Amino acid sequence: MGDQQPVDLGFELQQFMQLSPDMICIVSSGGYFLKVSQAVENILGYSSQDLEGKHMQEFIHPDDIEKSNREAEEIIKGKTIHDFTNRYLSKAGDIVYLNWTLKVDFANQKTYAIARDITSQTLKRQKEEIQHQINDSLINSSESLIWSVDRNLKLTGFNKAFANSIFQEYKVQVEQGQKVLDENFFPEEVIDFWKSMYQRVLAGEQIDFESHTENIDTTTKKTTWQKVFLKPIEVNGEIIGIVANSIDITSTKETAKELQERNELIEKVLAEIPMGVAVNYISTGKKLFANNQFAEVYNWPVEELEDVENFLSKIYPEDDAEAQSYKKMIIADITSGDPERMNWTNIPVRGKDNKRRFINAKNIPLFDQDLMISTAQDNTLPHLNKIKLEAAFSEKDDFIESISDSFYTLDNDYNFTHMNKHGLEIMGNSLPDLVGRNLFDVFPELKNTIFYKHLESVRKTGEPAKFEFYYEHYDLWFDERIYKTEKGFSVFFVDITITKNFLLELEKAYQKQNEILQSITDAFLALDKDFNFTYVNKEAVRIFEVETEKLIGKNLWDIFPLAHGTKVYNKFEESIRENKSNSFEYYYPPTKIWFMVNCYPSESGLSVYFRNISKNKASEFELKNLNNTLKQKNQELEQFAFVASHDLQEPLRIISSFMELLKQHYGEQLDENALKYINYAIEGSHRMKQIIIDLLEYSRAGDANAKIEKVDCSLIMDQVLGLLDDTINSKNAKISYDKLPTIDYNFTALRQVLMNLIGNGIKYTLKDQKPEIKVSHSEDEHFHRISVKDNGIGIDEAHHEQVFTIFKRLHGKTEYKGTGIGLAICKKIVEKYGGEISIDSSLGEGSTFHFTIPKVLNH
Ligand code: ADP
Repeated sequence: MGDQQPVDLGFELQQFMQLSPDMICIVSSGGYFLKVSQAVENILGYSSQDLEGKHMQEFIHPDDIEKSNREAEEIIKGKTIHDFTNRYLSKAGDIVYLNWTLKVDFANQKTYAIARDITSQTLKRQKEEIQHQINDSLINSSESLIWSVDRNLKLTGFNKAFANSIFQEYKVQVEQGQKVLDENFFPEEVIDFWKSMYQRVLAGEQIDFESHTENIDTTTKKTTWQKVFLKPIEVNGEIIGIVANSIDITSTKETAKELQERNELIEKVLAEIPMGVAVNYISTGKKLFANNQFAEVYNWPVEELEDVENFLSKIYPEDDAEAQSYKKMIIADITSGDPERMNWTNIPVRGKDNKRRFINAKNIPLFDQDLMISTAQDNTLPHLNKIKLEAAFSEKDDFIESISDSFYTLDNDYNFTHMNKHGLEIMGNSLPDLVGRNLFDVFPELKNTIFYKHLESVRKTGEPAKFEFYYEHYDLWFDERIYKTEKGFSVFFVDITITKNFLLELEKAYQKQNEILQSITDAFLALDKDFNFTYVNKEAVRIFEVETEKLIGKNLWDIFPLAHGTKVYNKFEESIRENKSNSFEYYYPPTKIWFMVNCYPSESGLSVYFRNISKNKASEFELKNLNNTLKQKNQELEQFAFVASHDLQEPLRIISSFMELLKQHYGEQLDENALKYINYAIEGSHRMKQIIIDLLEYSRAGDANAKIEKVDCSLIMDQVLGLLDDTINSKNAKISYDKLPTIDYNFTALRQVLMNLIGNGIKYTLKDQKPEIKVSHSEDEHFHRISVKDNGIGIDEAHHEQVFTIFKRLHGKTEYKGTGIGLAICKKIVEKYGGEISIDSSLGEGSTFHFTIPKVLNH
């Protein structure tokens, strides 16, 4: 505790302590203030009593306690401390920098300490340091090159930019004390120039100048520009060196250059531009600039254009009322300051030559620069042309009115803007009513038609539309053309109802025809003149087994190459060439089909009908074969009949002759029965003879080799009547006949037919009945027909067929004589010559026998 005992100082010492501006302290070895001089009050604001007995630590800035303790340990070890600074906190809380000098008195276990208040110096130094740092960083961060030299032009300082620049250019690290104008780097003239500059500054002048450097290192060979400021460094009125500052002004220089070039360009453009340009001050109206074109447009020389007022009075002469009203308007527009109003078209102005011109002018005010730019273009010619055009157009309008098409115009909202007279006639409305009204208000139904769609598409695409449309509401057809115009749409329309209906009828007719063509069972196709398919019906498609689409437009010979050059090709070709129709049969091997082909030349080419006749063809062949066989068989039969009948006659004659001889020579020796038998045998042989004669006759009838000649039927009738003369007379028959034709036939054969038929007619009558026979003739395209009608007993219908069979008789011999060969021979002959024989009869009603003779004999 003795440690904290107050110290008693002698009087002088006390005086000294009171006077000292430094804080003089006696501190215990434990760090407690034992005695503190008066100065503490000035320095820390505490009284000496405030500190005495307190530990030093209580007053030290907390951040400095550690550092102070370390120092205290040194002191304890016996070290005298000079110049140790720490911070104390004053009574007011301010930081006070104290600089200590301390010494330990081991004997008394006390420390003597003097603390000097260095706060203000410290703060000043700190401030200076900050300022220095700022300057340093400012200088170094500057892109300007800053350097200083002494009177010997040796470097005394430089910033980073300077060092970098030197390094970049000369690959040299600059150092202080180095010569600033080194002959190794700079050419002589550069050194001379700079030397003279430095000398001037060393003589007290402050100068700046621009210099440039050709940057030879870079490929761009760019010139860089610098502005250099040189200033003498004066210390106490003595110039000890130079501070230099060089700023890169390349970009400024370039901008300036660019600006100048641009100005030159603008001037050039203004001079060349095909438009008048003038610039005036807004405030004074004074002219700043006017190009020659401006003068030309207005026909006033540039020199005579002084200001706006003067200019306006020139172009709008006092004595022209119209000009004056334009002038008023222009002035009002300009003074309004509204750029939109300062845009004039076709303003009439007067030139120096006193001629009227029409000008398009526009003013552009640049208020912040007090400038008004005026542009002007001469529109005289186009304007006058437009007036002419308008006149022409109004003429054309009349023309449009007079053309037969109906015509109206719509604006972009589909309101009527015009309708010509024809249109009105069709619409049945009056013009004043329509103009201004909306098309779809007037004709609402149109909205649901294709008209609306087309109109919309014209609006969208700008492409004109041409179409026909049916206006159901009015039951009318229209041909419409819609064009996009500048202001809307022009619509031309024609009522085509009549034509359309006609076409529709035609179409229907065509459809019908088409249906007919399609449905005819014959295949039909149409070809153009080059044999390309233009039409095929269903049947043709079926036969060809090729779809319609694959045929139409294709060449016939490409589709059926094997037919090319064959009969069908020749016939078709001939039909077209000779304009004649052809019919022919044609076998197309790939399809194994026989066709009956009919082709007819037409305007457009060839119409071809064809039919598959393979089946007919087959039966035809069959028939032909059968016929041939039959013919052969018949011939064989005839030959047999001939041979048989001829050869049989001889033994028959022997039989009947020997029977007669037997009767004559031995008749008396024979009994009655034997004679009866012999008579039977003789009678039988006679009958047989007759049969053989008949057979022979039959087989000879219609001899294939018989001669065909011109036969006059009337002549035959004469002969027949002659031959039958006896019978006719005995029966008192009446025979009549028409005028009969001359025909191609075999004379004998025809005579035989007629004789048999007429003979029968006389024969088969009732007893006591007077036979009446009528022979008549008729004919058609292909045949003569001869009919033999009697009034006899008639023939039951059931026997009509049988009577033509050889040896067939309906009556007994006793009743009517005969062998039943007559009609068989007739049939044979008639058929041999290609005709037919038939009966028209019923029992008791008389009979009519008809037979035909082909007009052209088929031999
Ligand atoms: P024929 O006269 O020799 O008997 P035809 O062949 O001439 O042989 O006639 C065959 C049969 O047809 C006759 O038997 C007769 O019955 C019948 N006939 C022919 N012509 C007539 C006729 N004009 N009227 C009625 N019957 C007839």
